Amino acid sequence: MMSDQIFGIDLGTTNTALSYLYMIDKRASVRLLKNRDGKELTPSVVYFQPNSDDSIVGTTALDKYIEDPDRTFRWVKREMGNSPDWTISAGTEPLKINPETISARILKFVCEDAEKNLELEAPISNVVITVPAYFGDAQKRATLDAAEIAGLKASLIEEPTAAILDYILNLRQEGRLRNVFNEDRSTVAVFDLGGGTFDLSVCEVIFNKRSNGLPEILVIAKDGDPRLGGFDFDLTLAKVALKKAIRQSPTNENLKVLDDSFEELRNESRITDRGLRDVVAELVHTAEQCKELLSHHESIDFRIPRFRNVVASVQISRKEFEDSIDEYIERIKEVISRTITQARSTTGGELDSWSKVDKVILIGGSTRIPAIARLVKSTFQVTPSRGADVDAAVAKGAAIKGALDSGHLVLGGLQMTTSHAYGVLNESGHMTTIIVPEGSKYPHEYRHKYEVPFSLDVNLPLRIGQRYLGSTKQIALKEFHHPFLYTGDQLDISITVDANGMLHFKTVEPNSGECLEESILEGIGMSQGDKDKQSRVVGHK
Ligand code: AMP
Repeated sequence: MMSDQIFGIDLGTTNTALSYLYMIDKRASVRLLKNRDGKELTPSVVYFQPNSDDSIVGTTALDKYIEDPDRTFRWVKREMGNSPDWTISAGTEPLKINPETISARILKFVCEDAEKNLELEAPISNVVITVPAYFGDAQKRATLDAAEIAGLKASLIEEPTAAILDYILNLRQEGRLRNVFNEDRSTVAVFDLGGGTFDLSVCEVIFNKRSNGLPEILVIAKDGDPRLGGFDFDLTLAKVALKKAIRQSPTNENLKVLDDSFEELRNESRITDRGLRDVVAELVHTAEQCKELLSHHESIDFRIPRFRNVVASVQISRKEFEDSIDEYIERIKEVISRTITQARSTTGGELDSWSKVDKVILIGGSTRIPAIARLVKSTFQVTPSRGADVDAAVAKGAAIKGALDSGHLVLGGLQMTTSHAYGVLNESGHMTTIIVPEGSKYPHEYRHKYEVPFSLDVNLPLRIGQRYLGSTKQIALKEFHHPFLYTGDQLDISITVDANGMLHFKTVEPNSGECLEESILEGIGMSQGDKDKQSRVVGHK
């Protein structure tokens, strides 16, 4: 039976899944819904039809990728917040689209299928969408914009947090929660390696009197890599196959042409020769299938797609594939090492080694690669648990968050932490005053009395910035122009991190009490006019 409308969406790089909350005997439960193709996972792919403004989504769009890659959009999650614009020819005039449009189209597709499947009388209006833990404000804003374009009001939850909610709800329903978490305080790592991104989070699961037998979840550290996932492994495997084929037939010039074009794709430049472009698209597709087979077979036969009447086939072993992704495995290790440094700092040195982590939960399709499973085992020295379903955990966790927000489910508490640090940047862009250290709890308002170190005038605005987790990279987020501030003046700065992890700034001049500026982060995200335009493109308006 359906309760109030509570839906969660895992808007993934490779696949999207929608979950919903239902009640059986007054007990809340969450499950995935099937799309019109009878599948729980919808490929995050959109194909724009030539000569019309129509687009198709999912498996049928994925089928078009090989035939017409220029009009087929995949892996756009990696571009969220970067604001690239793509122009494609359409009905009467060229169509301008961006990653938000593609994401909106996917959101709309899965919601429409859910509406039909559940025979809803009104369209879905509220959803919880999952985002990677490392997503910054621009990427979160882009995700919220995509929801708005699709006509949805959305709140966000980080993917590893969603996965742990699903894990805990499953244990609770099975009556095993205190068997698995028999200590009052346990540490859990969530290792999420998907199609395009890698996220690592560490949470504490706490049972105390206050939490009334239900756990409180506290996220204590998180890090990730926005460009590391199954797609990179596909490209690497395709390259290995090409190189091997060239070694087998060194005089074959056509294979070399294909290899050069493949380099162009990796460098993200356009391949102008249409025939070549289609073969490269097919090659990547083949690589993905072969990569998945290599998780279960020691060796596979990789058939390079036919190109200028050349047919080539090479044997590739699991070892060859796993050796070829070593560079990415090293990057995963770097994230692992940064995360433990952060966990050490947020726990005051208590969590200083991965061997102190009690549980590891694996999510994301790429954790099926044996080399990744070995890496996890050797790092954490525990046998990792796979969520009940690696592909479903995140989507289900999103609906659970919706159920917690609406009171359909109750937990001891859920406390998130920021991935990045926020504070004041000096003239050369370095963060000299930290107001919200990385790993700070939210939702929360952070206040700081800032002593003006130099005269500020219109030419020297106060700059609030973000320092990326575990790196020295810093960016300006907001400039405040204070014409009459002098060295030694004190300024109250407040940064509120809201429940979505989004920032709101305020500065108050203490002598006059005058609120000099108060605003949500501006200058990022799409304008209302652009969102309305894109709503028409995805068929919402
Ligand atoms: P996700 O983003 O979690 O849906 O993960 C999708 C990624 O997992 C894609 O790159 C898939 O190719 C990859 N994947 C799925 N199954 C396997 C498998 N058996 N072995 C290796 N990679 C897989």
